[in-house]
Amino acid sequence: MNTVQLSVVIPVYNEEQGLHTLFDRLYPALDALGISYEVVFINDGSRDRSPAILREQFQIRPDVTRVILFNGNFGQHMAIMAGFEHTRGMRVVTLDADLQNPPEEIGKLLAKMDEGFDYIGSIRKQRNDSWWRHVASRAMNNFRERITRIKITDQGCMLRAYSRDIIDAINSCKEVNTFIPALAYTFARRPAEVVVEHEERAEGESKYSLYSLIRLNFDLMTGFSVVPLQWFSMFGIITSLFSALFFVFLVIRRVIVGPEAEGLFTLFALLFFMIGITLFGIGLLGEYVGRIYQQVRHRPRYLLEAVLEQKP
Ligand code: UDP
Ligand code: MG
Repeated sequence: MNTVQLSVVIPVYNEEQGLHTLFDRLYPALDALGISYEVVFINDGSRDRSPAILREQFQIRPDVTRVILFNGNFGQHMAIMAGFEHTRGMRVVTLDADLQNPPEEIGKLLAKMDEGFDYIGSIRKQRNDSWWRHVASRAMNNFRERITRIKITDQGCMLRAYSRDIIDAINSCKEVNTFIPALAYTFARRPAEVVVEHEERAEGESKYSLYSLIRLNFDLMTGFSVVPLQWFSMFGIITSLFSALFFVFLVIRRVIVGPEAEGLFTLFALLFFMIGITLFGIGLLGEYVGRIYQQVRHRPRYLLEAVLEQKP
């Protein structure tokens, strides 16, 4: 049944201002590739006119368009997951709805795939984001690479291409909190990256606040590695060792020099530091436990309101 060569998956959340420009550029760009394609839009519970615009677009191009409507906001990665489950293409490309990833670059990813790679990531040539996001994302990248051993140069760029094998592998995962490019990377036999153009957000504003970016990075760290927990045990072992040595020292000192009462505030500073670390450790443990809890409840990861598609 896989006659479609390319599926393009696009999550949409409150993007009414930009959708028409997206259609105007996306469809011609795909036509220019000269291969059979389909576009899968997922409306992630938008509260603006996005679902209406997507329904309209389905009426206009029902032959190459599918629209999945969520009945709530389940997040970008869940939207992409749902999109993947509805793709039929031999290759799948993900794209943002805000035109930050130019659709004209899709051909570049496919050309790289032709060289035999099964997963193509992308690196934004010049990022048009605010400076604090540059700094924050560089720091996060280094940190993540250390912890998860997943090499993604530019984790914020969703213009990526996946082969059918990888899509099938991702579809068989039932993860609640996940990060699609990282998941794909772990399944890929031959991953590669290409440099792509990047544009300023055409309309509307970023749907990610600093808080949701931090949450996303927690998903990435804890979803793909237990190294943070191991670091904690290591830190615990080292502090216990030092405390033991310190205790021996104090006992000896007491016998030789006598009792001591000074250095009280140093002790407090040390204590507060340790309490801080301990609280962080409990929080970190909570991140894992919370994720396990969400996973074992087996609730549906997302709920569909409707799927608009033409029967094949
Ligand atoms: N998005 C989504 N659900 C969300 C947040 C975002 O489907 O809860 C979509 C959004 O419509 C866009 C893509 O994910 O197509 C990337 O979002 P955004 O451009 O706001 O992120 P940024 O580029 O600022 O990282
Ligand atoms: Mg964006």
